[in-house]
Amino acid sequence: MTKKYDVVIVGGGIGGLTAAAILSKKGKKVILIERNESLGGYLDTFQRNEFIFEASLHIMDSCDKKTQTYKIFKQSGVADKIKFLKPRYLYRSIFPGYSITVPQVDTIKWYFKKISQDFPAEKDGAKRLFEELDYVYDNLYDLRAVNMTNRISRYKEMLSRGNTPASSLINRFIKDYRLRAMLGQLWPYLGLPPDKVSSLYFSYLWVGLNRYGAFYPCGGSRTIVSAFQKSIIDHGGKIILNDNVKKIVVVNNMATGVVTEKNGVIEGRSVISNADALTTYTRLIGKNISNKFFIKRLRRMTPSISVFQCFFGLKDYKLPKDYSEDYQIFLNPSYDFTKTYYAALDNDVDKASLTLTLHSNLAKGSINSKRSVMSIYMPSNYDCWNAMSRNEYLDKKQQMCESMIARLKSLFPGINRFIQTKETLTPVSLNKRTGNSMGAIFGWAQTPGQAGLRRLPAKGAVNNLFLASAWTQPGGGVVGSMHSGRNAAEAIMNMGR
Ligand SMILES: Cc1cc2nc3c(=O)[nH]c(=O)nc-3n(C[C@H](O)[C@H](O)[C@H](O)COP(=O)(O)OP(=O)(O)OC[C@H]3O[C@@H](n4cnc5c(N)ncnc54)[C@H](O)[C@@H]3O)c2cc1C
Repeated sequence: MTKKYDVVIVGGGIGGLTAAAILSKKGKKVILIERNESLGGYLDTFQRNEFIFEASLHIMDSCDKKTQTYKIFKQSGVADKIKFLKPRYLYRSIFPGYSITVPQVDTIKWYFKKISQDFPAEKDGAKRLFEELDYVYDNLYDLRAVNMTNRISRYKEMLSRGNTPASSLINRFIKDYRLRAMLGQLWPYLGLPPDKVSSLYFSYLWVGLNRYGAFYPCGGSRTIVSAFQKSIIDHGGKIILNDNVKKIVVVNNMATGVVTEKNGVIEGRSVISNADALTTYTRLIGKNISNKFFIKRLRRMTPSISVFQCFFGLKDYKLPKDYSEDYQIFLNPSYDFTKTYYAALDNDVDKASLTLTLHSNLAKGSINSKRSVMSIYMPSNYDCWNAMSRNEYLDKKQQMCESMIARLKSLFPGINRFIQTKETLTPVSLNKRTGNSMGAIFGWAQTPGQAGLRRLPAKGAVNNLFLASAWTQPGGGVVGSMHSGRNAAEAIMNMGR
C-alpha cells in the first residue's frame, strides 16, 4: 500500500530539516527520509574514548536577532531552543612575522585603528573597500523586502558586482600584500582562496561576521539538529531514519514521490531533495528527465572542495595564557593564499594554510566538561584520497596527522605529550557520511561562475521537485543551506500545494 504526503523530503541535512520544519509548522503533511541512523548530514558530533568532537561546525555567521537567519529559526519553530555562544575573538591570524587577533566587538573600529597604525597609507582604500562590502551585503540582504521587479534588477546589479573573484575587489582598494592577505583571511570558510572565490559570497561572509560576529550553538551542532527534529515531530511531521531513497518517481516530467529501500513507494504532491544535486538529477531521477541541456549543464559544474581534518583529545593540557580565549586560529605559512591552497591540495601540510579550532575554549562545560578537544582542517582533494589503496590511505592519514601535530607543536611547544586521542576525517569519509560528490562541503564550488543566480535555483528542471541544500541558491555552509531550505518551503507554499 502506498502512503501519500504533501511533501516528501529526501535527506536530513540542515537544508532538508529547515524545509521540513517550516512546512510542517505551516500545517503541511511532511515526511523526511534520511539514509543514516542520525539526522544532520555534516552537522554531527562523535565520541572517541572520553572525548566528544564536533565533526564539522566551527562557526555560523549572521545568526543575530536582526538577521534573516534568525527569522528562519523562528519560521522553523526553533528560535527559543537554540542558544548561541560567541567567542571573545573572531579569529587570530598568524603569518610569517605578523599576526592579528580580531575582536568580536567593535570589529570595524578595530580594523581602522590597526590599519592606521600598521598600514597608514591604506586607510582611505580600506574605508572604500569596507563601504563596497557593506553595499553588497545590505543590498543582497534586504532583497526579500523589495518587490519582485526591483528585486530582480537589484540582484542583477549585485551579480555584475559579484561576478569577479574576491581578490579583484580587495586589490582594487588595497595595495600592500600583507593587508590584502589580512583582509582576505576568511577564505577557508568559503573553500577557495580570494583569487577563486566569488566576491558576492566573500562580501556576504565578511560583513556578516565582522558586523554580527561568529556564533556557535551552546551544546554543539547536535542542539541545532535536535531542535529541528523536535519541531518537525511536534508539528506532525514524520521522520524515517536508516532508509535510503533509491529513486525519485517522475511521470511526465512531474515528481510524484520516491521509492525507498525499506518503505517502498511514498507518494508526495511535491518532493524536496536535500541530497547532492548531481545525484538527485542523475542517479535518483535518471532517464526520466526531459531537459537534457540541464543535465549537461550540471555535469559541467564543479563541486566545492572537501577537507582533511584531525581531531585531538587532550588530558590536563593548559593552553598558554595568551591563547586562553582564542577559538579560531588561522596558521598561514605564507601571505600568498593561492600557494597555500594548492599546497593543501597536494597534501603538503607544512606549506598549507591550516584552520585550528580550540573548541573547549568556547564550549567550556558544554560539549566536554573535563577533557579538552581541538581540531585542525585544511582543504583537500577527494580524487587523490579515493585513488589510494587501503594501506596507502591509512599511512597517508597517519603521516598527515603527525605533520599537523608538528605544526601544532610549533605554536604550543610540548602539546603532543598531552594528546590522548587522535582521529582523522578525509574527503572519502565525508563522502560516505552525506553521499555528496567528492566529499564536497559547500555544494558547488563558490566561484563567480557558480554564484548567485548562476547557482541552481530551488526549483529545477522537473515540476514539483525542489532542491534544498548547499548545492542550490544562495550557497554553501550551514546558514546558506538553511536559506535554501526556506526557499524550497516558500516555493511550495506559493504554489498553494
Ligand atoms: C569539516 C567541515 C567543516 C565545516 N565547517 C563549517 C562551518 O564552520 N560553518 C558552516 O556554516 N559550514 C561549515 N561546513 C559546511 C556545512 O556543514 C555544509 O555546507 C552544510 O551542513 C550542508 O548542508 P546540506 O543541507 O547541504 O546537507 P548535507 O549535510 O550535505 O546532508 C545531506 C543529507 O542527505 C542525506 N541523503 C543523501 N542522499 C540520500 C538518499 N538517497 N536517501 C536518504 N538520505 C539521503 C545524507 O545522508 C545527509 O544526511 C563544514 C563542513 C565540513 C564537512
